[in-house]
Amino acid sequence: MIIGALRQRLQHLHDILAASLPAAALLHQQSPLHLGAGDPVKVLIIAILSQATSDHNCLLAYNSLRQTYPSWEALALADEAQLAATIRAGGLANSKAARIKQVLAALKAERGEYALDWLGELERAEAYAWLTTLPGVGLKTAACVWAFGFNKPALPVDTHVFRVLNRLKIVNQSQPEKLQVELETHTPPAIQRDLHVLLIHFGRTVCRPRNPLCEKCPLSGECPFFFAKSS
Ligand code: SF4
Repeated sequence: MIIGALRQRLQHLHDILAASLPAAALLHQQSPLHLGAGDPVKVLIIAILSQATSDHNCLLAYNSLRQTYPSWEALALADEAQLAATIRAGGLANSKAARIKQVLAALKAERGEYALDWLGELERAEAYAWLTTLPGVGLKTAACVWAFGFNKPALPVDTHVFRVLNRLKIVNQSQPEKLQVELETHTPPAIQRDLHVLLIHFGRTVCRPRNPLCEKCPLSGECPFFFAKSS
């Protein structure tokens, strides 16, 4: 797709979803990542806990973690097996416990403290490059830290974002990380975070993985997946 046309389609998608899903932003405020808004270390830890689990279980794990380890210093010193038991509700507890400890150790080694404020001074690409050197941190998690921890333009591509955009054939990209690069390059910066939030809400409630609600979808008139299904 021609670059200008892609930018226009992403803006159009944002405008349609924003008009049809007015509660999306409000619902996002109840999500685990929103809990860390403005605190990049918190977002990073929550993003690790959120991998391969539901928002509900992620929140259970995070609340349990903060009750047991009220400071990053205490968390960094945690016994790994005990930490895994503490976050068991979030699944994959052993590997997440190991990653959390490794990530905190890397933060300490970098600047001598459990903080990421310095990262906000960098360009997005540089920040991503550093974040993705951390164990278990991919481009999606880096974008979550940038978008919600630093309140900067980013468009993390999760399973919902990936599915919806591919069904709509707005992009032709089979790899989520490459899709994220493409979207962050061509989506107007001012709507990147909003579009991420809207697409997740849309993917959960309308364009669901199975049995999408195409009959109620505001995008059915322009959706190749719907046309193929109906023909
Ligand atoms: S028409 Fe169906 S498949 Fe297409 S975007 Fe809407 S819900 Fe998803």
